[in-house]
Amino acid sequence: MKITDIIKQNTFSLSFEVFPPKSETSFENVKAATEQIAKLKPAFMSVTYGAGGGTSEYTLDIAKNIKNLYGVPTLAHLTCVCSNKETINKKIEQISASGIQNVMALRGDIPEALKDADRSEWDYNYAFQLVEQLKQANPNLCIGAACYPEVHPESTTQADDIKRLKEKVDAGCDFLTTQMFFDNNLLYNFLYKIREAGITVPVIPGVMPITNANQVERAIKLSGSFMPQRFKTIVDKFGTTPAAMQQAGIAYATDQIIDLYANGITNVHVYSMNKPVVAQKIQSNLSEILGV
Ligand code: FAD
Repeated sequence: MKITDIIKQNTFSLSFEVFPPKSETSFENVKAATEQIAKLKPAFMSVTYGAGGGTSEYTLDIAKNIKNLYGVPTLAHLTCVCSNKETINKKIEQISASGIQNVMALRGDIPEALKDADRSEWDYNYAFQLVEQLKQANPNLCIGAACYPEVHPESTTQADDIKRLKEKVDAGCDFLTTQMFFDNNLLYNFLYKIREAGITVPVIPGVMPITNANQVERAIKLSGSFMPQRFKTIVDKFGTTPAAMQQAGIAYATDQIIDLYANGITNVHVYSMNKPVVAQKIQSNLSEILGV
């Protein structure tokens, strides 16, 4: 099922993100964790693509497994930076042959060692180039792309980031998923600005439950997200007690999702990070709203 068709149903839904194993040895563990999440029957599950494509084979394996065994629609991520057109065309063929209908088209982070490299010869500098290629190779695919309520770290201004986002959407995106954020007002403000800029595709907010204190630093580094004082207080108080921090982090994410639903959003994507317990608890906290 295409994600745009799920969104059209206009009912409250949750989707979950998982990531592929980093090596063959952890494949079975990751597969088992993703299957437990799939058993919750979320609206869809996304499977990330290893930075630089390192674990790229596993993305498709995990996504196919979820779709074929549990009938859960999947969204396979694909990054293009440091790759070439031929390799990406093969990936698109594999995705199409697998029956997966949704692809998240990403540039990927530029590896540290190549930050100062001459990029003029690269096949891909930005995600819009991958969006164009996907659309051309298989017009039936439902294409998603990333957006950043708090501005992508490489952009100098939000206006410029939104202008580039509009170009990416115009290249053929069917929907957008946001980077994590911890203050919903940042999302509402962003939505207002992108609608004003003429971006009309559905936007699925991405919510990350922070369940241990170490994740906080990593989340800020990755996304540059603003941490509200209320959230910092929770981490200060419970960060050294793992079970309490998990409970508080899940409660905070649940609160964020309830506020999103109350403000007219119907589909929320949870960065559940291969943690079935986190996905289960969030879903059960919302059982009456979701009707599950
Ligand atoms: P782009 O859309 O290309 O944007 C990157 C920067 O370039 C932005 O600052 C943008 O404003 C600017 N820009 C865009 N087009 C132009 C242009 N024509 N000229 C000048 N500037 C331009 N990473 C992974 O490795 N694997 C994953 O599975 C993965 N999944 C993700 C899922 C989501 C929902 C999000 C939000 C991020 C994900 N990432 C993933 C991280 C992502 O790869 C990085 O944030 C990366 O740095 C940017 O990717 P992008 O597709 O947003 O790039």
